[in-house]
Amino acid sequence: MTQSTLPKPSIAIVGYGSQGRAHALNLRDSGFDVTVGLRPGGPTEAKAQADGFTVKTPAEAVKDADLVAVLTPDMVQRKVYEEALAPNMKQGACLLFAHGLNVHYGMIAPREDLDVILVAPKGPGALVRREYEIGRGVPCIYAIHQDKSGNAKQLALAYADGLGGARANLIETTFKEETETDLFGEQAVLCGGASSLVQAGFEVLVEAGYQPEIAYYEVLHELKLIVDLFYEGGITRMLEFVSETAQYGDYVSGPRVIDESVKQRMREVLKDIQDGTFTRNWVAEYEAGLPNYRKYKQADLEHQIEQVGRKLREKMVWLDNSRDQKEAA
Ligand code: NAD
Ligand code: MG
Ligand code: MG
Ligand code: MG
Ligand code: MG
Repeated sequence: MTQSTLPKPSIAIVGYGSQGRAHALNLRDSGFDVTVGLRPGGPTEAKAQADGFTVKTPAEAVKDADLVAVLTPDMVQRKVYEEALAPNMKQGACLLFAHGLNVHYGMIAPREDLDVILVAPKGPGALVRREYEIGRGVPCIYAIHQDKSGNAKQLALAYADGLGGARANLIETTFKEETETDLFGEQAVLCGGASSLVQAGFEVLVEAGYQPEIAYYEVLHELKLIVDLFYEGGITRMLEFVSETAQYGDYVSGPRVIDESVKQRMREVLKDIQDGTFTRNWVAEYEAGLPNYRKYKQADLEHQIEQVGRKLREKMVWLDNSRDQKEAA
């Protein structure tokens, strides 16, 4: 990508969590003028200041910005947009999201004078930053919802380029495609599917009388090797590196575990995403104060595999256990 042909908007980043921090740091290092908008006294204000950013309230931060990136949690974006962004953004500025949920399901109907775009890195914020720092990038997908200026695509490309995404790959999508595939991916495969698969495998071994520590290493710890091989060279590379015995077991037992009935339920999950059922339920859960969310989370955190894992990871002193925390999808 030829850097010089792309615009260099001044940018306000609202939210300084997983994505916000990575975007702010990468864009600044790529030569953009970046201001951070946060609630005064909020949990990430000190972090943004320590990283050398000018931190203002969201309302103040967006006033002079050519481009405003909305990187607060999805469930507070509507309120932030209505209270701080819509009344304060410049005429003709650009509103950017990293996930299309609020626009796609109609929770936010952006002002008509704005360009409205999406740039979604296909990876967690920590990876977006780490890859950039070593001269690589996380692939980004981008989309245009509203192109008032006629320049919306150039702005999306400039932002994605500034994140380092162009070093890996940029693909054009729509808000609908990004939103529905992102929700499906994290629910069926990345977060929901993978964690449930690991927990189920662990439970089967422990219930059969095997040591929990050995079950942990087998079904959770070793997954890293497999996922690294997927990342580097797909299933092909994984098959090259595991034993013939492991390959044969994969071929005959994989499809017994993940069979057509699992695919059928994945289609049901996708349908709930497509027809808005999932998002309606999630908004209702959020507005009710997250009663089920907290209950489900507590159950995951108390699962035996977590207790065993915390002890075993203490022995791996090279792991940063303070980050035994969120780096989610
Ligand atoms: P996060 O929870 O890590 O960070 C949220 C930030 O917003 C924090 O700085 C928090 O203090 C701030 N915040 C919360 N309420 C606020 C308010 N009312 N006003 C101002 N600031 C407020 O969020 P995240 O996971 O980085 O997600 C941000 C966006 O990026 C979401 O749209 C998400 O879907 C998308 N996304 C996330 C990932 C990821 O890996 N986490 C990947 C791709 C896209
Ligand atoms: Mg789970
Ligand atoms: Mg083995
Ligand atoms: Mg995602
Ligand atoms: Mg997501």
